[in-house]
Amino acid sequence: MSINNNVPLNWNDQLAAVFQCPICSEQMRLKITSSKSLICLNGHCFDISKQGYVNLLPHAGKTKYNKQLFTSRKILSENGLFDPLIQQISGLINKASPPGGMIKILDAGCGEGSHLFRLHQELKAAGSCTVLGVGVDISKEGVQMASKNYPQLLWCVGDIANCPFQSGQFDFISNILSPSNYSEFQRLLRAEGLIFKVVPNRGYLQELRQLFFASTDKQAYNNDNTLELFRAKLDLLDVRELQYSVTLNQALIPHLVNMTPLSWGADENRKQKVLAMNSLEITIDLSILIGRPSFIPRPEVPGHR
Ligand SMILES: [Zn+2]
Repeated sequence: MSINNNVPLNWNDQLAAVFQCPICSEQMRLKITSSKSLICLNGHCFDISKQGYVNLLPHAGKTKYNKQLFTSRKILSENGLFDPLIQQISGLINKASPPGGMIKILDAGCGEGSHLFRLHQELKAAGSCTVLGVGVDISKEGVQMASKNYPQLLWCVGDIANCPFQSGQFDFISNILSPSNYSEFQRLLRAEGLIFKVVPNRGYLQELRQLFFASTDKQAYNNDNTLELFRAKLDLLDVRELQYSVTLNQALIPHLVNMTPLSWGADENRKQKVLAMNSLEITIDLSILIGRPSFIPRPEVPGHR
């Protein structure tokens, strides 16, 4: 499989075997007629788009994330906003991967794909293993952008709560500032696999929160509940905190405003004031929850590996 370069992925049986039917959980295979599709043993069939992604969402998904938000996130990502985070995750993956091996990474809630792409680039630069990067998101707009911009990775529209992937196959799952389904992550990881869940801490974008909401307590982050939910399904091995600040120039400020759901509840006048600023220093304050599947025995499900 030629996947460690920038050549668009070529759909084959090996890639098709990554997936399972979102309707009946059966295995899928590639069906080639005038176009390509994935078809399960029960005949449920899903087209692979001309761009190369597959839509495995039986019904259209609802999301508040739109194209503008995704475009802005991509631009900020390309300008390095998340580089220290991606470098840290990449370092953790490298440390846990056998040199020369092949690793499979799922980015759950990949949006427009920039996090997985950056991660893939970092791992490629380290050069120690071959990487298959798979991204899934409920937003078709996000996945369309991802497959257009990063055709060397495998993209799929799907529901995190009913992940259309075969069990026990991923070496790593990243889940960055995005909703989780820990039961599904537990199912999808190999026994020795690792998950990196990234959550915002109190200081995350605090300058923007201050400008938007002044002295109100709106949108303050609290991770207690997240830790509890994580621990209920997975073994929490470590929590790494990561804090840095980035100065955004005037051209990038609108993208920050577009990127964050913080803006949804902000007063229009305050928003305009932020947009008129010449530069803005913002804090990125995150925790990386590192976990692995728990050893509680799981029932065998027919058709699952
Ligand atoms: Zn099916």
